[in-house]
Amino acid sequence: MRILLVEDDGALCLGISRALEREGWRVDVLADGQQAMAEGLEAQYDLAVLDLGLPRRDGMEVLRHWRNRGARLPVLLLTARDELSDRVQGLNAGADDYLTKPFDLAELVARLRALKRRADGRIDEVLRIGELTLDLATRELTHRGERVRMSPREIALTQLLMQRAGRLVPKESIIGTLSSWEADFSENSVEVYVHRLRKRFAALGVTIKTVRGFGYVLEAAPAPAAGAAGAGD
Ligand code: CA
Repeated sequence: MRILLVEDDGALCLGISRALEREGWRVDVLADGQQAMAEGLEAQYDLAVLDLGLPRRDGMEVLRHWRNRGARLPVLLLTARDELSDRVQGLNAGADDYLTKPFDLAELVARLRALKRRADGRIDEVLRIGELTLDLATRELTHRGERVRMSPREIALTQLLMQRAGRLVPKESIIGTLSSWEADFSENSVEVYVHRLRKRFAALGVTIKTVRGFGYVLEAAPAPAAGAAGAGD
């Protein structure tokens, strides 16, 4: 397993590197947020350990950059004790886990192992509902085998809804997912996005039901009458 460690505290870096290398893992270390932005997009990493407070670009900017560019590697954030709001923001921005400093190195190793297990389980994962398929590796949405073009934001929302198809997706989860693109994402924006997606889904045999005051449920629509297919945009 190859891990990208981004941390500017030299002593902490050394401690972490040693602990991870004892597990037989390979560790590449960066102490600078700007460099980390490009490096994290390289495909060779299985995991990243990312400090929030970094020189030049902070960890949050780095994480957003990675996710916006489609990097799916699991990311564990390192945060200081007083960075609670950053931690929440980090999870919303696409972090998979976090540890608050100071932490136990054995705990870090255990968390990384768990993240790797989870990541391995979702390799080549494909989500399906009705005749709609979302390939999580390529972020490609298809309907009866035909590519459906959507913005990265719409794909992210589609993924969230498909992962919980048939179950309630709370508004807060949608805000969490979409605010990695827009910092000031509000409840009203959720309604706008869902409305837009609902219109697109109508032609694809999938409906988004509103559960007033709580959120949304994605369901396959009943099969359309013959001749109705191909209508809409
Ligand atoms: Ca730091």
